[in-house]
Formats: sequence, C-alpha cells, structure tokens
Amino acid sequence: GVPVTRDHLASLNDDQRRAATAPAPQLLLAGAGTGKTETLARRVADLILNGGEQPDRLLCITFTAKAAGEMRLRLASVLAPDQMPRWVGTFHAAMARLLMEDGAGLPCLARGFSILSPGDARSLLMQVAGVTDIKDGSQLQEAVSLLRNALATTEGKRPRSAALLGCDPEILERATALVPAYRAALADREVVDFDDLIVLPVLGMRADPALADRWSGRWSEILVDEYQDTNLAQHALVRLLAGDRRRVFAVGDDLQAIYGWRGADVAHIRNFASDYRMPGDPLRLEINYRSSPTILRAANAVGANDREAMRKTLRPADPARPAGVSIAIREVATAEQEGRGAVGWVQALRKAQADLAWRDCAILVRAGFVSEPIVKALQEAGIPVRLVSERQPDAPKEVLAVIAWLRLAMSRSIGEGETQEQWQAVADDAFRRCCAFPARGIGGSLFRRLRDHATDRGIALAASVGSVEASDAERDRLLAVLAIARRIGDAIAGKRLGVPASLRLAAEYSGIQDRLRDDGQGRLTQAWTACLQAAAGAGSVRSYCDSAGLDDVPGETEVPDAVQVMTLHRAKGLEFDHVLLAGLEEGVWPNWQAEKRDAVPEERRLFYVGITRARHSLRLSWVRQRRSWDAKPSRFLDEIPRSLLESAAPAFASSKRADHGAPARMAAPPTQAETDRLVAAFMARRTAASAGPQ
Ligand code: ATP
Ligand code: MG
Repeated sequence: GVPVTRDHLASLNDDQRRAATAPAPQLLLAGAGTGKTETLARRVADLILNGGEQPDRLLCITFTAKAAGEMRLRLASVLAPDQMPRWVGTFHAAMARLLMEDGAGLPCLARGFSILSPGDARSLLMQVAGVTDIKDGSQLQEAVSLLRNALATTEGKRPRSAALLGCDPEILERATALVPAYRAALADREVVDFDDLIVLPVLGMRADPALADRWSGRWSEILVDEYQDTNLAQHALVRLLAGDRRRVFAVGDDLQAIYGWRGADVAHIRNFASDYRMPGDPLRLEINYRSSPTILRAANAVGANDREAMRKTLRPADPARPAGVSIAIREVATAEQEGRGAVGWVQALRKAQADLAWRDCAILVRAGFVSEPIVKALQEAGIPVRLVSERQPDAPKEVLAVIAWLRLAMSRSIGEGETQEQWQAVADDAFRRCCAFPARGIGGSLFRRLRDHATDRGIALAASVGSVEASDAERDRLLAVLAIARRIGDAIAGKRLGVPASLRLAAEYSGIQDRLRDDGQGRLTQAWTACLQAAAGAGSVRSYCDSAGLDDVPGETEVPDAVQVMTLHRAKGLEFDHVLLAGLEEGVWPNWQAEKRDAVPEERRLFYVGITRARHSLRLSWVRQRRSWDAKPSRFLDEIPRSLLESAAPAFASSKRADHGAPARMAAPPTQAETDRLVAAFMARRTAASAGPQ
C-alpha cells in the first residue's frame, strides 16, 4: 500500500508534535508565537492523514474569518482537495451553517431564516424598545448581547461576568426586560441576530437531549484556537457539542485574554482540565519562532507585570539569532504629526529594504479614532493602506443577492446515473433571497406554504417547488427561480469558472447586473468591486459558497499589498515584520475607563498582544496633544526595559516640537467631557461593529 506520510508533522518541534498527536481532551497553553495555531493546523491534518478521520467529522473553530482563511491555506498545503475539512470557521460561521443544514429541531427557527446584520438588529431592537437615539440603541444592544452571551437572561442567574458588572445597572435592567420582546420580534420576522447563532443552539441542546445527542454526534473532535477569549455561551456550546466523548483540543494563552469587555472569561481556560476531565497538565510550548530576541525580552518584561497569568517565558527559536533592532519610542506633538511619523516610518523601512512588501508593515491602535489621522497621512503620501475595519460594512442587498444566486446554483447536484436533481437545504436562505430579489411576485403566503411543505417532508425549499400546492401562475414564478439557478450552475460547471467570474455570471443571469452599475454615489460599484476582490482570494467556488455570507470577510484569504492598519483586537493571532503601536497615551491606552472598570490588566495584555505581533522591529508612538486635550505617555511605555530602547530616541520628537513652536504644556489627563464625546462617538460605531461575528 501507500506508505503513511508523516510530512505534515516533520516541521514541528518535539513539544509541538506531542501536542499535535496527544489524545483529546487536551489543552495547549503557550505564549505568543510559539506555534499554537500551527500545531492546531497540523493536528487537523494528522487526524485525517494518520488517524483516518473523516474530514467532515472535524470542527475547527478560528477566531476571525481571516484566521479561517489562513487555516484553510495551511491545510491545503498538506491535504488533497478531497481531504479538506468543510467545518473550518468562526463560531458564528460554523453555527450558521449547522443551523441551516440541520436546525429544524429548534422551535424558534424558521426554515430559510436569514441573519440580520448588526445594524439591522439594532434598528429592530430600537423599534422594540421605543428608542430613537442611536447612542441609546447601541448601549442597549451591547447590554442585550452581553446578557445573552452570559446566558443570564434565561438562567435566572445573577450576571457574573466582569463585563456585565461594569455595565450601567439601569441599562442592564432595561436590557433584561427587553430580551423576550426582542427575541419575539426576531422570530416573527424569521430572522436571527449574530448572538442567536450561538445562544439558540446552546439553549436548544439543553432543552432537548435528543438534539444534543444528534449534534454532538456530528463531530469526532472539536478544535478551538484562542480559547482564552471564549465567552460563557461559546464555552457552553463547545462543551455541549463535545458530548460524552469530550474530545476537544483547545489552544490559548491567558496572557492574551483581551475580550473581557465582551464577556470572555479566562476561567474557561483555567477550568478546562476539570470541565473536560482531562488527565494530566496542560501541554506547554516555550520556543518562539516569530520575534527577535529584543522584542521577546520586551514582551517577557511586560508579561511579567500581569499578576494573574501563568508564568510563560518566551525563548527565541535560534539562540544565535542576533538581538535585532532596538525598540523606538516616538513622542510627537499632534495626531497629524503621528500620521506623518507613520509615513516616515514606512518610507524609511522601504528604503532600507527594497523588497519589503507594504503588507509586512502594520500599524496597530487601541481605538479607531487613533487610526484616522494615520490612514489619512498615508493616503496623502500615496502609500497603499488597508484599514481593516472591525467588520466589513454591511453589503448592499444587490450584492448579497448575487452571492445568494451563486449559492443557490451551487446547492444543486445531480446524482450519478440519476435524472433527479437534488437541492440542499443549506441554501434555503439563499433560495428565499432569490425569490425576493429581483422581485417576481412571490408573496409571503406562497412562501409560507412552500416552507411548511418543505418542513413536513424534511426537504430543501427548492426541492418542494414541484409538489407544493400552488396555482399554475405561482408555480411558474417559483420554477423561474430554479430555472435561472440551473442556468447559472450549468454555465459555471461547463466553463470551469473561477469565483469572481462565477459571481459576474450569477449577476448577469439573475438580472441584477444592471442594478449594480450605479446609484449616484458609486456605493454599489464600490461594494461590488470589493466583493469581487475578496472572491479572487477564495479557493474554489464551492469553498466560497461554504463561507460566503457567513463570515465577515466572505472568502477572503489573500491580503492585498498595503500597509495594514487595524485595532489590536483585529490583530490577534497575526504577525508582521514591522509593527508600529500608535496612540500610547494615558486615557487612550490604557483606556480612560480602565481604572474604574478594573481593566488595566486587560489593557496591558493588549499591549502584550501588540508587542508580540512583530517579527523584526517595533516602534511605539504617543501624542502630546490629541484633539483638545494634553496627554501623558502611557504607563506601559515604562514597562519596556530601558536597555532595549533606541538611544537616539528624542531626535524626531524634538525637531517636531521646534517646528510646531508650541511650548510643551503641563500634561493633564483629558477632561471628562472631551473623552465622553469622543468615546461615545467611537462606541456607537464599535458597538454596531462588535456585535458581529468575530
Ligand atoms: P499567537 O499566540 O500570536 O496566536 P501562535 O502560538 O499561534 O501565536 P503561530 O502563529 O502558530 O503561533 O506561529 C508563529 C510563527 O512561527 C509562524 O510564522 C509559524 O509559521 C512559525 N512556526 C511555528 N512553529 C514552527 C516550527 N516548528 N518551525 C518553524 N517555524 C515555526
Ligand atoms: Mg495563534
């Protein structure tokens, strides 16, 4: 027979290999850059190649859609296409899929349900609550989300999570009272919000042991990256899906726990061993393959100030690796100068290294408002820049409809030797969207009849078109939808088109193309172009359809070549050659409310996350006067050992100070009113964004 290949484990060190092959339940607890994610990927490959596991029996949960894309790429390098697991994605994407494929057991879930965007979910919540102010709506939405993710509203337990304790009690009370009416409104409209994707399965499995049995039998092992940032609902979900076998492989780093404000709790990783009755201690890794010795020493020094985290010292993989360039701290007068400083930084790096790609430079910020002047300065200097937003803005309905047509078309299969075509229920939501757009007179009552019919027979909506009770005219309209989907599917199969070309074809055949051209502001053209660009990075049409519409960056696996600007929360798990951490001021980082909320340690862990993203060089900058307030340097700057800092640090700052002519004022923290305004504006945007899948 064919010799068993062990190639997929060959690049791992001994500890990593042990972790990749140890029986589950297993917890791998290790510091940044030690290869946790790498080990997890290799474990998936090993389970399939050596363990004889069916690829679809593995559920692999990543933290962001981007991370899911990277995971698929890593897997594709060692697995053949037919060995690739389908269930690789964020909690939200995986559960959306499960509910679409097999959600019929949940009482509050309609077939062909659709998922509300966070913006639409907020509008609905505001309607239910009778509030009109966006800021109030955002606050309520955040509180409702925290409550539901803490499973607090349904369990009658006192909220326990730190995030809930930090919430305004009055808002919490209002939110608690709102949840039932909000849920009813969602159910009424046959939609779910992002939290539902996690919370409904948990409640469903708890209430219905048969459902729990069925679902926990689907996967033989569940692998979860970044476990330190799971909230209670996610933790409960994994526990339920793991069932009696308890086969969970979790990796994490308690020193990188940064989602306490969203209800995540490191207790889940600390209690993993007892929850899963794991024999022995968690596995460890100590060798860091990512960063220069200088950067590692800075990370170790900052990490040592976290009193709660388990001790983990990072060692460089190659003891002979030169210490690397010193860490630079830049003090500048204004936010605009911080932007110009970022331009100078990137230009100098490119000058020093001609083949450096833009995308290898990243600028990471604590809060979105810090990045605005930086992005502006980079754009003005003609430097390609990519602002990785917390979530992609909601795509217009035209674009979503094109994706739906493609998904519907791809959900049809024709069995070998059969004449009968089959439609999969996973595309029920796509079918619903296709019936609605472009409009062809398929009304609510016809649709409900179709759905009841499909539910009774346990078949896909598209498969019930032939047998549903309907007038000739009604059936013709439904058949027209299927005919178009068939044409799209056949054309793609015949021409072996790539993903962007398939999308274009779906747009043309469905008649949406003309509507994509322009709406006066170019908004549609822009969204459509972005969609096609993202699709260009997806592997196959099939894998695109598996994740499109579910992940926040549909199918994107390739990063365009541009300087990357993002918040620390988005940068989790990523790495870059050169990293600039901007906005290191008291009040910004740590955030002005951190002390009150007991969140300084979490702010420090964010700093730790930021430092450990860098491979070769690290620069930190802070602004003396941001908007209208005088700022002090962040206390975290003092935690970097002096010996690691560049000695010639003040040159840039002092020359700018001379330029500016403004005398250095006494540093004072921002006034309450100033920060309130800024933070409120920022929060309104972030809340809308953060309710989405991570
Ligand atoms: P984080 O905590 O930031 O998520 P991590 O522990 O998940 O980090 P990875 O991202 O898996 O670390 O790995 C960090 C880098 O080290 C990657 O570039 C990876 O390819 C590389 N790496 C991991 N293990 C090895 C190894 N055995 N040999 C060489 N390079 C490795
Ligand atoms: Mg990782």
